[in-house]
Amino acid sequence: MVDAGPLARIAVVLVGTTHPGNIGAAARALKTMGLARLVLVAPRAFPDPEADARASGAADLLAQARVCATLDEALAGTRLAIALSARRRGLSLPELDVRAAAGLAVEEARLGEVALVFGTESVGLSNDEALKCQRLAWIPTAPGYSSLNLAAAVQVAAYEVRMAAAEPAPRAPAPFDAAGIDEIEGFYAHLERNLVQSGFLDPAQPKRLMERLRRLFGRARLEREEVNILRGILSAWDGYGGRRKR
Ligand code: SAH
Repeated sequence: MVDAGPLARIAVVLVGTTHPGNIGAAARALKTMGLARLVLVAPRAFPDPEADARASGAADLLAQARVCATLDEALAGTRLAIALSARRRGLSLPELDVRAAAGLAVEEARLGEVALVFGTESVGLSNDEALKCQRLAWIPTAPGYSSLNLAAAVQVAAYEVRMAAAEPAPRAPAPFDAAGIDEIEGFYAHLERNLVQSGFLDPAQPKRLMERLRRLFGRARLEREEVNILRGILSAWDGYGGRRKR
């Protein structure tokens, strides 16, 4: 039997969708699998008659879709975000196939909010967008042509989520109070300011180091309490501002 509890806490986030028809088809894909939460980040055209037409009987999901200006806004309060990508990216985010990712999503959704994040049709997710997520998932394909249509990718992922929710729940997973992605983004911003202020990080080239640090903390899955401790440490260091003498 499918456990509807976790399904209700899994959102599908579509970033920068170009074709409104894909938004409608994604809504339909979700509804067939018992998922209901569609989040649209800066869609090019929405609402749109093409989306309505492709949604068919899933107009209710489109009507309830949450439209956000940024991915940060979409992921606020989320405990785990999984980026779906057709390409391997050398980002060293932990990678999973979609079946394992769906299993993890369902497990985490027993504890809180989870997001599956899909990129734009033409180029997929940017590295910056993928690095706001803690895991990278791919749908296995024929070698040499790995790029599914966006709504088709949503359908496959939603199906795997439903199958995972039909598995008996594992023995009570060790619950942990994962920090929300907005809290983690606040920590990264604070860390970057602090590193620049101390002279450790060159403000002209913050990207590489901050990406490495995102990987590090992304692997660790920070708890809320741990983010508070790290913010406290940074605040104490803020007091010792001033560039390091060379
Ligand atoms: N040309 C783009 C593909 C965009 S397809 C690229 O190279 O990334 C639109 C979205 O569908 C992707 O951003 C991804 O979220 C999803 N998608 C398509 N094929 C996928 C696959 N094989 N595995 C996982 N996600 C896939």
